[in-house]
Amino acid sequence: MSDASPPVTATQVADSFASVADRPLSIADEASRLADRYAEADTLSLLDAMIHREFPGRIVLVSSFGAEAAVLLHLVATVEPATPVLFIDTGKLFGETLRYRDELTARLKLSDVRTIRPDASRVEQADADGVLWYGNPDMCCYIRRVEPLQRALKGFDAWISGRKGFHGGERQGLPRVETDDEGRIKINPLAYWQKVDIDDYFARHGLPHHPLVADGFLSIGCMPCTDRVAPGEDIRAGRWRGKNKSECGIHLPVARWKVDGFDI
Ligand code: SF4
Repeated sequence: MSDASPPVTATQVADSFASVADRPLSIADEASRLADRYAEADTLSLLDAMIHREFPGRIVLVSSFGAEAAVLLHLVATVEPATPVLFIDTGKLFGETLRYRDELTARLKLSDVRTIRPDASRVEQADADGVLWYGNPDMCCYIRRVEPLQRALKGFDAWISGRKGFHGGERQGLPRVETDDEGRIKINPLAYWQKVDIDDYFARHGLPHHPLVADGFLSIGCMPCTDRVAPGEDIRAGRWRGKNKSECGIHLPVARWKVDGFDI
């Protein structure tokens, strides 16, 4: 992984700079400046700087508690176990995921895991029979994932995601620092990690795997939209299998939904 360069501590990197709140920069300029400043920082130092120095009290981790999520949760817990963590319970998740959330939360001593849910009236309006995922998965993801997350992100200036470039598709070439279209900074600490780094981290720290991984589920989302992955397939091949869809939408521009008429 490319962040195997000599560690740069958060203190070393950040001490000579004012906090983000003190700098009247555009969000794009700020992302560019953060990316440059922490280009050589190892993953833990990057997280330490973002959580303690750049966005104290204003940054949140968004986690699926899926197949690889334990790595980033462990890293964040190492830096600051009180970091807020948002978990989207779509109402369509595997029971194993909910139990894994509880197990990891306790094990890592995460003290601020927030389970967020879709608006009930919205679900009743758009998905009364519960099968919207079959006919219109984009709209289903919008009301069950995108909207609740957008609501929960209000009040935060930055968020942390666990996406990795090696997952391919829209994630290929993912930067460690970017912006969303709501004016927030997005940090992708694992952007440059490879599968071997993930596996090594699990082993080194004795982290428990999501129970469905052993059953061939390598990327885990909602039950109706997650399939096992065959040997040789891409890691996300089991997501929305057979549909022209590869992302739930929380990392896509919100404007996309308005263009598609989903801003209902
Ligand atoms: S992953 Fe499937 S069930 Fe879950 S919100 Fe998206 S379309 Fe709906």
